[in-house]
Amino acid sequence: MANILIAEDEERISRFIEKGLKAAGFTTAVVADGVSALDYASGGDFNLLILDVGLPRMDGFVVLKSLRAMGSDIPVIMCTARDSVTDTVAGLEGGADDYLAKPFRFAELLARVKLRLRGGGTEATQTVLTCGSLSLDLTTRLASVPGKEVELSAREFALARTFLENPNQVLTRDVLLSRVWGYDYDGASNVVDVYVRYLRTKLGAERFATVRGVGYRLLEI
Ligand code: CA
Repeated sequence: MANILIAEDEERISRFIEKGLKAAGFTTAVVADGVSALDYASGGDFNLLILDVGLPRMDGFVVLKSLRAMGSDIPVIMCTARDSVTDTVAGLEGGADDYLAKPFRFAELLARVKLRLRGGGTEATQTVLTCGSLSLDLTTRLASVPGKEVELSAREFALARTFLENPNQVLTRDVLLSRVWGYDYDGASNVVDVYVRYLRTKLGAERFATVRGVGYRLLEI
């Protein structure tokens, strides 16, 4: 499984990213400054680098430039504050593969990580996810169950996608919350249950099994 280096000085963000990547089966390491990022990333032990732009000791752009100057072709996804997206697009020309504006949802990051690890293709190869008789088209964002197509809200779509990417697995409320709502969510704690109820109503209650005291599991039916 791929080994991912996270260079991020805000601990709550690096923890959020690390937790999600580990749950998705990756191994990770975290560094909190640019000098360590360059040191670790150039060592050859990592398959991908998630690189914050605003890092102490050496900023993300300098890290990236130095890496490329050293001949490293490690895939890099830059993370940047929304108000410095223009700078980051300039950074892409400096050799980054992709960027994400903060705050981002974990599902967005994971999609890009998977894409970069596949070899940097320009489009995702899998556009329809299925589990039993349920399918979700990632392009049109329509779900379908026998006999009907169903429109989902943005949040319902993100939640359905997370379930379909992890069929038959128990997903805890914490994992669902961090992947679908993001680390900056501070609303009602039962929001996951509320949205699972929406999906049950739209897609069939029997598909989403409750794992008492833990979370939910998408069944293959
Ligand atoms: Ca930062």
